[in-house]
Amino acid sequence: MVNNFEAKLKEYAHLLVEVGMNVQPGQTPRIAASVECAPLARLCVEAALDRGARDVVVEWSDDFVTRQRYLKADQAVFSEMPEYVKGKFQWFLDTQCPSLAIVGSDPEMLKGVEPERIQTWQRTSAPFTRPYLDVISAGRIQWTIGAHPTRAWAEKVFPDKKGEEAVDALWEAIFSVCRITGDGKAVERWQAHVEATARRAKLLNEYHFRSLRYTNSLGTDLTIRLPEGHVWMGGAEETPAGVPFVANMPTEEIFTAPCWDGVDGRVYASLPLALNGNLVKGFYMDFEGGKIVNVHAEEGEAFLRNSVTMDEGSSYLGEVALVPYDSPINNTGILFYNTLFDENASCHLAYGSAYPTCVKGGEEMDEQAQKAAGLNQSMNHVDFMIGTADLSIVGTTYDGREIPVFVEGNFAF
Ligand code: ZN
Ligand code: ZN
Repeated sequence: MVNNFEAKLKEYAHLLVEVGMNVQPGQTPRIAASVECAPLARLCVEAALDRGARDVVVEWSDDFVTRQRYLKADQAVFSEMPEYVKGKFQWFLDTQCPSLAIVGSDPEMLKGVEPERIQTWQRTSAPFTRPYLDVISAGRIQWTIGAHPTRAWAEKVFPDKKGEEAVDALWEAIFSVCRITGDGKAVERWQAHVEATARRAKLLNEYHFRSLRYTNSLGTDLTIRLPEGHVWMGGAEETPAGVPFVANMPTEEIFTAPCWDGVDGRVYASLPLALNGNLVKGFYMDFEGGKIVNVHAEEGEAFLRNSVTMDEGSSYLGEVALVPYDSPINNTGILFYNTLFDENASCHLAYGSAYPTCVKGGEEMDEQAQKAAGLNQSMNHVDFMIGTADLSIVGTTYDGREIPVFVEGNFAF
């Protein structure tokens, strides 16, 4: 039993709707959730309508159905985009729906599925889903991501617990890292956290580093050049209409884009990576002129190799993110097997697409201009953790000064 569960769940729904998505009166948000996440999704619908949403569209999914289709459906369906799905995404785009995604999946849901089937579907659906998802990732409309435990996920995270006991333990962990106590004040605590993060991002922007060099005892020695117009972001973002929102709940990161062609050296992952339901463990990557030229993993190397070669841009980095080793998520000592949490545990990088908002004026640029400004493009965006307790990051400014950014795993300022 989670102490005071009903109050905490309600507090979480309010946090997602009011601070995360920050739905405005008259808007019609889209809430994507699997059927197992229904208790939280329903409270979010209620909170959005109570806040004056015009309507709410819920997109239900089902892990069991997804897995059965990937395993057994006619191969050809993964190359066909049905008209009604095209229409749905066009409608999201036309009506500029704010988006709330509630994640909660079995981390091994797709284990045993041929990666080729998944990739075929990603390639088929991307041209139709991407225009809406691009509008979201460019921050033109509000969006956020929350989470809801499922039994399979909870038992993966807590292998010595079963069923409800595991689910309760995962709820406790999620509530704690989201600063939810049941006292109804999570919204205020988040506002303070968001402001503190913004102050640090401002400082990084004032330093205006040319490059960052990462080293640690795992063997990481990586140099990342930053675009001249790069912008560090963290905490809240703002839409062009001036509506603030917090794109991930929880979020601890301050992030920007690297120059897609400016990464050299070797980086070791500090945590396993869950990739389409498959785990990649003990891996490193080598970079030359931005490109991933070699990967090695103790486990799951084929999945990693497939993922970093899914398209041209998958072999280049699209995100650099700073998270103190001493973060609430890392302090739980829990590996969540879910990027939303694990990416906020420590410093990370992502291969694949960059967020256009990470370069000044990036949202206004066409693809060619974005690339020239340093922003990588891909259908992929995969975060992987590299932060350790002994991670050092040194920034070099345009006038050659070397400034410690991270010392012993934490911010130096
Ligand atoms: Zn990130
Ligand atoms: Zn990311």
